[in-house]
Amino acid sequence: MNNTKNTEVERRSFWEKLYIPEIAKGLGLTLAEMFKPKFTRQYPEERWEPLGSYRGRPVLVDDVDGERCVACGLCSRVCPALAIEVNADETDRDKERFPVKFEINMLRCIYCGFCEEVCPEEAIVMSKDYELVFQRQEDAIMDKEKLLVPVAQLQDRLEFLRQYR
Ligand code: SF4
Ligand code: SF4
Repeated sequence: MNNTKNTEVERRSFWEKLYIPEIAKGLGLTLAEMFKPKFTRQYPEERWEPLGSYRGRPVLVDDVDGERCVACGLCSRVCPALAIEVNADETDRDKERFPVKFEINMLRCIYCGFCEEVCPEEAIVMSKDYELVFQRQEDAIMDKEKLLVPVAQLQDRLEFLRQYR
């Protein structure tokens, strides 16, 4: 092994051993980059709009006839960070059960998307929301009020899921 390495080094020309061509190539690349158009984003004035494949904050889908969640608890069981708490209650609507309490602790969430993957109702999805700032720990615990997002705002993600599942 060492012998092969030594032979390779010996085979290099004088200039290659000085590394000058490689240094010149590197400097050339840097110079070329300097004259290319810049794409620094002036955030927050210029906001970034992620694609449907983006995994931002998990949210609950608020459909035309209300929340899709049937409080089966699968998302809570699969969550590796133990971030989801669901309490079920009965309802006289078609779906029989609904989450009387649904909370996600965003200090724990690692954006893995497992909750979305196991949900049988497409009721919890990863949104495009990447702006999460909390001043107090309690603010990071999102209840149903903060989690429910109208289905119309989640179309990109829902289409992405249907395409790639
Ligand atoms: S994205 Fe992952 S960590 Fe976050 S709530 Fe869902 S399962 Fe838990
Ligand atoms: S979000 Fe989906 S997986 Fe979680 S409790 Fe509701 S229906 Fe079940």
